[in-house]
Amino acid sequence: MRSVTAYASSAAKAPFEKTTIQRRDLGPRDVLIKIAYAGICHSDIHTAREEWGEAIFPLVPGHEIAGVVEEVGSGVEKYAVGDRVGVGCMVDSCRECVNCLAGEEQYCLKGNVGTYNAIGRDGRPTEGGYSTHIVVDQDFVVGIPEGIGLDQAAPLLCAGITLYSPLKHWGAGPGKRVAIVGLGGLGHMGVKIAHALGAEVTVLSQTLSKQADGLSLGADHFFATGDERTFAELAGSFDLIVNTVSATLPMERYLSLLGLDGTMVNVGAPPEPLSVPAFALIAMRRGWAGSMIGGIGQTQEMLDFCAEHNLGAEIEVISGEQIDEAYDRVVASDVRYRFVIDTATF
Ligand code: NAP
Ligand code: ZN
Repeated sequence: MRSVTAYASSAAKAPFEKTTIQRRDLGPRDVLIKIAYAGICHSDIHTAREEWGEAIFPLVPGHEIAGVVEEVGSGVEKYAVGDRVGVGCMVDSCRECVNCLAGEEQYCLKGNVGTYNAIGRDGRPTEGGYSTHIVVDQDFVVGIPEGIGLDQAAPLLCAGITLYSPLKHWGAGPGKRVAIVGLGGLGHMGVKIAHALGAEVTVLSQTLSKQADGLSLGADHFFATGDERTFAELAGSFDLIVNTVSATLPMERYLSLLGLDGTMVNVGAPPEPLSVPAFALIAMRRGWAGSMIGGIGQTQEMLDFCAEHNLGAEIEVISGEQIDEAYDRVVASDVRYRFVIDTATF
């Protein structure tokens, strides 16, 4: 075991405090990563505040990890000391089921092993990126291309892949009218990626306060959902809507914005159920779907795509002591557009 510094919360809604945690000794396939930056995802907040159910405390969240390889196990051939690497939301899966074999490890039939708040193969709780180091099997590590700063790359490991995967799956590209609901961490990467894929992109935000940002991120149109006229004006006008909102929305109203055969993909994961009247789907043969992060292979593809198109996250870098304050600001939709913890401040 190796002692490393981390920020942990001791109970639901307890403040984050600097502490020491243990990382396992390197197995033959393991990579020791010196973490440079860790993004704060709204999922960290849902988990730490037990909005999704009981969590394992002390909790060290963080599944948007970017850093540099410091040491490798004897059998590691994918990475070498000094490589720039990332780790996202999972650190293991069964690797044998049909979904793992298809490169969709996030849908592992035995359940993927989350980067934190899960039980690892060694029987110990997993602890995430709000720490100086992490040990991860090489198969769940991705390479961060030169050209993307590690700080701007960290949020791609969750926010980036969570939008890239459904945008690719549902064919966002030239001629497709795509709406992104919620301009937060996920949403702003959705705008950048959908634009880079060639789609016509609309942001649906609560107010117009982020309009200038949205347009400069690559959106073609920007509407306030707090304005009653928006829903009438945009009725039936999208092929694909990706809903990134962390709270429940009146789905019927948003579904009415889809045209014939349009699809609403939910990536936002509010604690309360979403409800949909059948006629909102029947009317235009609409689809309502969900999507969870993306596989390891696709995460690497996304990073390469972002490097090629010069895309990184818009970030506000914070210290370990500012995590609680950052959580409150995320919940208040006051993040532009991802908080990233600098582990050099630990
Ligand atoms: P975030 O940065 O807080 O962004 C969410 C955005 O939703 C806010 O910035 C805000 O945008 C909008 N919003 C918030 N509350 C709202 C409300 N009551 N009504 C309408 N709009 C509201 O969060 P995030 O990190 O992007 O995560 C978003 C959600 O995705 C979370 O539930 C998270 O757990 C989930 N998630 C899912 C996956 C997956 O694999 N499916 C992966 C990561 C995260 P505006 O200010 O523009 O309105
Ligand atoms: Zn996340």
